[in-house]
Amino acid sequence: MNIDVDILEKLLYSVVFGLYGIVVGSFLNVLILRVPLKESITFERSHCMSCGHTLAWYDLLPLFSFVFLGGKCRYCKEHISFQYPLIEGLNGVLYIVLYLNKGITIVTILYCLCSSALLALSVIDARTREIPVGFNIFIFILGLIRLLTDLSHWSQYVIGFFAVSGFLFLLILVTKGKGMGGGDMKLMAATGLLLGWKLNILAFLLGCVLASVIHLTMMAIKKADRYMSFGPYLSAGIYIAMIWGEQLVSWYLSMWAFKSL
Ligand SMILES: [Zn+2]
Repeated sequence: MNIDVDILEKLLYSVVFGLYGIVVGSFLNVLILRVPLKESITFERSHCMSCGHTLAWYDLLPLFSFVFLGGKCRYCKEHISFQYPLIEGLNGVLYIVLYLNKGITIVTILYCLCSSALLALSVIDARTREIPVGFNIFIFILGLIRLLTDLSHWSQYVIGFFAVSGFLFLLILVTKGKGMGGGDMKLMAATGLLLGWKLNILAFLLGCVLASVIHLTMMAIKKADRYMSFGPYLSAGIYIAMIWGEQLVSWYLSMWAFKSL
């Protein structure tokens, strides 16, 4: 029997990336819960949100514990929020999609870590309307690593740092901070350093389109708040740009070259 080694290898690596994603995702749940409360992230043992019982390691296995416990606390039988397995599973999917599109490179690892930060800051921003600065510093550090591992293209990243954030800085000055928050500006500065200016501008435009389409729809249907957390939309734009950005940009540029003939 002929076994396609290529597909087997892809499948195996997808499982590995997915499992890493799920494990990191369970840490994201801790961050989402504790960062807005300014609680300690590492030193405090996890406990049930309902009865306060300290959880054992076998209660904390990402995704699997939720399934085995039937979505209930082992001690008080209270339902566990569906957010936990959702974030874990979603983070696993984000990693697998990145691997399948980008292969195994330093950039893939940096993008995986960035997309985890985006996922956590999106949930926090949607709830608290604030992006904790730690996430932006984390993405900035990922950007520095990208810059240092691709020094021949350094200007792409340095321009990326200022390209969108400079525009947002002016926007904040003009609107006196009513339209856009400083957290969004810092986010686009950090991702600019990581993605380079072309992909970062694309990410911002995609974020704006998603925000207007989705938020206007939600306002029409649910009478949603006129205030909008921009972080989740920017994050979605950044993730799409990380995966398909290069194809989209080169397609766009080729259209231009064709027209200018
Ligand atoms: Zn409990």
